[in-house]
Amino acid sequence: MMNKLKHFFKKFLLWEILVGLKLTGRYMFKRKVTILFPEEKTPLSPRFRGLHALRRYPNGEERCIACKLCEAVCPALAITIDAEPREDGSRRTTRYEIDLFKCIFCGFCEESCPVDSIVETHLSHYHFENRGENIMTKPVLLAIGDKYESEIAKARETDAPFR
Ligand code: SF4
Ligand code: SF4
Repeated sequence: MMNKLKHFFKKFLLWEILVGLKLTGRYMFKRKVTILFPEEKTPLSPRFRGLHALRRYPNGEERCIACKLCEAVCPALAITIDAEPREDGSRRTTRYEIDLFKCIFCGFCEESCPVDSIVETHLSHYHFENRGENIMTKPVLLAIGDKYESEIAKARETDAPFR
């Protein structure tokens, strides 16, 4: 009986609407946050997982040692690696490709890499215009790494204390 009475008065007093208006009122006088994208952008976490890149050491040598851990761990089977020993005996990839149509940007490749070679950058604005551009080849990945090395290094340095 009490419950029915309570329900009746709540309905009669438009209680749900008042609760909704209370929430509206709470935000009415708060500072408005409007980001004028694309001129303004929200800050990105150093762990943001965007477009991939392959990094080099400061002397220009590529970091990747063709261990294939990233290829093995990739749940989407998006990475394809071929490798051969060089003349100096070091092992390097002859082919390193990531199919972005398969990639789910999980970051496992980045986490598994023992030499910080494959990374996911802060780049999230990109598009393809031709068939096949979804395959990120080794030269493309290295070029992205070369171009954004300072940002990549800074993001990893910022994140290092939390790892
Ligand atoms: S981010 Fe995940 S899905 Fe994409 S290539 Fe790396 S491991 Fe594979
Ligand atoms: S990118 Fe890293 S994990 Fe992948 S093959 Fe090269 S060294 Fe190994």
